[in-house]
Amino acid sequence: MVGTGFRIGRVLGIPIHLHASWFLLFALITFSWVSYFTSQHPQWSGSQHWAAGILSSLLFFGSVLFHELGHSVVALRYKIPVVSITLFVFGGLARIGREARTAKQEFNIAVAGPLASYALAGGFYLVASASPGGGMVEAVASWLALINFALATFNLIPGFPLDGGRILRAIVWQLTGNYTRATKMASVGGQLIAYLMIVAGIYSALTDEFLGRFGGIWWAFIGWFLLSAAQESFAQVAIRNSLAGVRAGDIMSAELPTVSRSISVMDYVDEIVRTGRRCHLVQGAGQLVGLISVHAASKIPREEWVTTSVQAAMIPREHVHVTSPEEPVLNLLERMQTEDINQMPVVAGDRVVGLISRDTILRVIQTRLEMGKVEE
Ligand SMILES: [Zn+2]
Repeated sequence: MVGTGFRIGRVLGIPIHLHASWFLLFALITFSWVSYFTSQHPQWSGSQHWAAGILSSLLFFGSVLFHELGHSVVALRYKIPVVSITLFVFGGLARIGREARTAKQEFNIAVAGPLASYALAGGFYLVASASPGGGMVEAVASWLALINFALATFNLIPGFPLDGGRILRAIVWQLTGNYTRATKMASVGGQLIAYLMIVAGIYSALTDEFLGRFGGIWWAFIGWFLLSAAQESFAQVAIRNSLAGVRAGDIMSAELPTVSRSISVMDYVDEIVRTGRRCHLVQGAGQLVGLISVHAASKIPREEWVTTSVQAAMIPREHVHVTSPEEPVLNLLERMQTEDINQMPVVAGDRVVGLISRDTILRVIQTRLEMGKVEE
């Protein structure tokens, strides 16, 4: 559901993506706001209604981005990397590189978004009050004040994955010291709210009462989105627990498949196909000089396999990310996801003692979940 979408640029060094659904929903929102301005200001010309509708949609889009940047700035202050921000029409998602380490951090990151939206609502309210009544500036600014106020308030509903759910989790986490129980509560809260929204939405869509047909479909859709996100967030906690206490040295493979840097990529591909191993250390003059994998080899065009050496295709040693046997696997997995790395050598002192891959970690998680070895 939460794909990366189209990348449109960077703010504060964070890549900003538009979700694929965004284009359709942006058009729908613009149309409905044009008709809103038409009914509110019948004395305006048609092009004024359109200008106000489009301008409001764009400013709303900026407002959602501002909300997510609120979360991101606080996360960055805690040295938590922000991988990307994806914008949906009804909100955004700042994907952070790892979970907050303390309840206080989680609380501050979660509360920053709604506070940013409330501040923006206040700003638009001031602009509206200072502008001549009945004009376009006043109409657009007061509409955005209302929308930002609603955005902040909706996000404070205490159910995962909304900000209010995170705030609830941080509070329960702080009070009980139990992260799992706190997440369970916020996740159940989120699912309850999602079911309520779906039921109210379907009821309205069928009967044309309460929220109306269009509003009903809209609510059911958001409810369904929230439901899957709430369930997913709980699954993530199970994963986190399944890896408690596991270190890289416990699950690494001590076998060190090695190839020489002077062989061709073609020969290397033969080796991969023959052995099924997907990642190799590269040696030159008895030293480790780099890392080569299926992924690195596949970046070389097929017709150049015979003429290209492993040396030219490998990741050179200075660019290879490494781990140590003591690194907690949960931390390592977050690092691999953030950097988009599939394999890492495990280094003790200046010696490579093993290899670890994302696949291995995922298999460990799967096995531990199947065996019910999940600590509360
Ligand atoms: Zn938020």
